Amino acid sequence: MNTLLLGTTKDDIKKAASIIKDGGVVAMPTETVYGLAADALNGECVKKIFLAKRRPMDNPLIVHISDISDIERFDLVSEFPLEAQILAQTFWPGPLTIIMKKSDRIPDEVSAGLPTVAIRLPSHSVARQLIKESGTVLAAPSANRSGSPSPTTATHVMNDLCSFIDAVVDGGACDVGVESTVVTLATTPPRLLRPGLVTVEQIEAVIGKIDVDDAVLFKLENGEKAASPGMKYKHYSPKAKVVLINSDGDKFISFVNSEFETDSTVCAICYDEDVAELKAQAISIGKSDDLETQAKRLFDALRKVDTIDGVKKVYAHCPTKQGVGMALYNRLIRAASFEVIEIE
Ligand code: AMP
Ligand code: MG
Repeated sequence: MNTLLLGTTKDDIKKAASIIKDGGVVAMPTETVYGLAADALNGECVKKIFLAKRRPMDNPLIVHISDISDIERFDLVSEFPLEAQILAQTFWPGPLTIIMKKSDRIPDEVSAGLPTVAIRLPSHSVARQLIKESGTVLAAPSANRSGSPSPTTATHVMNDLCSFIDAVVDGGACDVGVESTVVTLATTPPRLLRPGLVTVEQIEAVIGKIDVDDAVLFKLENGEKAASPGMKYKHYSPKAKVVLINSDGDKFISFVNSEFETDSTVCAICYDEDVAELKAQAISIGKSDDLETQAKRLFDALRKVDTIDGVKKVYAHCPTKQGVGMALYNRLIRAASFEVIEIE
């Protein structure tokens, strides 16, 4: 299949929408990461997303809407609870996904057979124009090959999915850089299933105490069931092995430098302050105290590792689990298959 590369003019967005109306799949920019979009109300179209990404069919998709009113207009949920309305009013449009009880309109391919549906109203104007122009709502998981780091540029999408999808709308680099926060209202109290830019503290400030699912921070034991099926898969991994180092900044540098002395195939994902002192190749994701910039650059950094000749292993700082740090920790710990070296 020839993958069409589109821009963001009105005509480009019309073209992308016509591909979706004809049953195709199009990668679109959102403020979080690029999404691979198809008509969420048509199970046959949605199947093409799973095929292109090679995504396991038991991993449900997020339904993207262009206005809060789409929830009623397309009859997406069987209940729109007060807490969901408060979250929507506070954080939409933006990087928060809300899980609610689904209606019969949601195909099993979208919900992966679960009784719930995940819904998000993105703030990216191109995404919203495309959803609106398509005349439906769009199922859109991250537009990467399943398992690899999520795409934050159209080039990342092309590298993974060129010739497997109908088109890519190039809207430049994504602002947030990590996927949306996912919270489910199908449990009491509500539960965080995936951390993102919208933090636990921000959610609790408007709807009260929420739980954090164990799979957010810990490795699931064999046979343990994931509340969010996506959490059980190996994720975000470059080809090189990722290892997290839990230490202060100086010890991180001396550890990586001493490893590099005997093994020239290691590199580092680090902070701006580390670069000058590291002897191995260093990919900075921002200043050590700037978690938002780190989130924005993390997936690009993980992809860059594989472009450095001869690199087989990358050491990364183990992030804080507080605030936006929880999103960074959640992605990096999976990229590292939960391998952390503790240095006192
Ligand atoms: P992606 O859009 O590829 O980043 O993945 C969407 C994430 O949302 C995955 O981790 C899914 O497991 C999760 N998700 C989507 N729908 C549901 C649902 N109905 N219940 C629980 N988790 C969901
Ligand atoms: Mg994904």
